[in-house]
Amino acid sequence: MATCAYCKGYFYEHGREGLSMCEGCGTRVGVIPMPPASRPPNPCARCSGRKFVRCIPREHTSATGGEMNAQHTNPMFLTHAAEAHHGWVLNHVKELDARKGFGMLEVYACWNCGAVEWHCLDVRNIPIHPDLMTQLIDYDDTESPYR
Ligand SMILES: [Zn+2]
Ligand SMILES: [Zn+2]
Repeated sequence: MATCAYCKGYFYEHGREGLSMCEGCGTRVGVIPMPPASRPPNPCARCSGRKFVRCIPREHTSATGGEMNAQHTNPMFLTHAAEAHHGWVLNHVKELDARKGFGMLEVYACWNCGAVEWHCLDVRNIPIHPDLMTQLIDYDDTESPYR
């Protein structure tokens, strides 16, 4: 057991190694345990540096409606399933969880020159659908109009 540095409550460290906050506090500030790095060990494209600061960027949104002053902070994803509201239901992607993100982003900032490189953690699990504003562009697909 560890003590949360934010709410002073106890939490199990299993799966949260290195974090100083409990799951509840983590959810409030959008902090999750770091997923494994996805970038291949190539040097910086600009200066050939081999040392980087890796970061999971977060996005901040203000809720509207019932929770006027609530701020939400979450890891940044390429796309999100839309939330159904006001009777508008997204039939095609109904099985997707509302607010679920796909394609978690990570950035690598070169220690030497500061160049920032974006990477996506689970590219192949991103659903391809216009409602998510995602599209598969395969330059090797002979049927593709994008060749
Ligand atoms: Zn806490
Ligand atoms: Zn560099």
